[in-house]
Amino acid sequence: MGRLIAISNRTAADASARAGGLAVAVWESLTATGGIWFGWSGNIVKDTPAAPDVFTDEGVEFVVTDFTEAEHDGFYLQFANRVIWPIFHYRVDLAHFGNTDFETYAAVNERIASLVVPRLEKGDSVWVHDYHFLLMGDYLRRGGWTGPIGFFLHIPFPSPEIFKALPEHEQIARAMCEYSVLGFQSETDRSNFVRYLTENYDAIDDGDGWIGVFGRRIRVNAYPIGIQADAFEKAAISARAKTASSRIGKFLGGRQLVLGVDRMDYSKGLPQRFEAVGKLFDHFPATRGKVSVTQIAPPSRSKVEEYRDLRIQLDELAGRINGDYGDLDWIPLRYLARSYDRRELAGLYRIARICLVTPLRDGMNLVAKEFVMAQDPEDPGVLILSEFAGAAEQLSDALIVNPHDTYHVAETIYRGLEMSLEERKERWGKLRRTVVEQDISWWRQKFLDDLDADLA
Ligand code: ADP
Repeated sequence: MGRLIAISNRTAADASARAGGLAVAVWESLTATGGIWFGWSGNIVKDTPAAPDVFTDEGVEFVVTDFTEAEHDGFYLQFANRVIWPIFHYRVDLAHFGNTDFETYAAVNERIASLVVPRLEKGDSVWVHDYHFLLMGDYLRRGGWTGPIGFFLHIPFPSPEIFKALPEHEQIARAMCEYSVLGFQSETDRSNFVRYLTENYDAIDDGDGWIGVFGRRIRVNAYPIGIQADAFEKAAISARAKTASSRIGKFLGGRQLVLGVDRMDYSKGLPQRFEAVGKLFDHFPATRGKVSVTQIAPPSRSKVEEYRDLRIQLDELAGRINGDYGDLDWIPLRYLARSYDRRELAGLYRIARICLVTPLRDGMNLVAKEFVMAQDPEDPGVLILSEFAGAAEQLSDALIVNPHDTYHVAETIYRGLEMSLEERKERWGKLRRTVVEQDISWWRQKFLDDLDADLA
């Protein structure tokens, strides 16, 4: 393979940002093959951005640009995060359609493509990431690039009925078909996209991942993203993890820990999860005083109205549950709106008897995989996983739930608390095998092999 050219909104230009899963995978590929990483500098300027900042780190070249205030607003805050994000997570009700935001979104895609095209050389492969850059392939083609371009969508792709709520759906879908390889997190996402194309544009599904549409043949596949499984396993027995386990252990005082770890986002199903916790204490009185639920949820995008509303809703629900069920020496539901170091999180996962991963919709959900890798093989915990997380396709040995059915979630928590050591070990062993085999390197290789095949 020649050079790899990566394009994503945030890059790992800052070494501390290389800890995230995507950043690790892209960084590893770029250092292996040599290449360039394009993206946003993280800075916002008043008007016209200066020339991009270009620098090299460990043989990887970075080309990052500032956004103007208008770009940051229309492209990032509005179209990407208040139109695509809610719609792709099936929340058409939360989408805000502005008049000019799509134009700004398209203009930013075009501007970044114009930084990329002059730097491309024959033999390069381009890898574009995520919902910020759905149109990038089209602009690269218009700029004259005919080589391979892969695209990976980290978030879900909705069913066609929902996707069509997006006024620009056709323009976006046509642009997506300019990529050579289109990657989705799950078979569900892939089949949603293919069904949209076959129902509306007579696409032909040739099998083996090939689709014929708009006079082109493109490869469309599911590539479920993994984690750095071995590194996470080690993190869970690090000194920092042990300190975190013992700190929360003191608070637990022998009670069982039921843990949730999510960014505070409406896709994560936190209000429904809190309702389920209320039902657990209501319908399964044996759990009162014996179980402590801790939800870690650092606020994200807190300037956006929908996120502020969610925060208020969670504060109210947690207050009510603690008011109804709490006692002098017991806080039933603790919720901590802050971030933790990943080794500390690993320590918390390890001590938890149950991890609640119950999003209403999630591209993959890496917390589920991290929880699996952090377990003590002699006393593993139980994963409760939403059927609407991409991870459910791979992790079918978890206890799978419908997060809207809060009584059933409560029942499943109870079942997890009662589960025999033998059953916990058996389920965990199968989950672990999958997470180890289909880790981040497996994901990267699977995607890049397909992109490479396009070169041949
Ligand atoms: P999303 O990308 O939608 O936030 P994922 O579950 O796929 O959801 O990934 C979330 C990542 O963020 C995981 O790696 C997880 O460890 C991390 N994370 C979640 N909550 C916290 C927190 N409170 N502190 C630190 N990291 C967190």
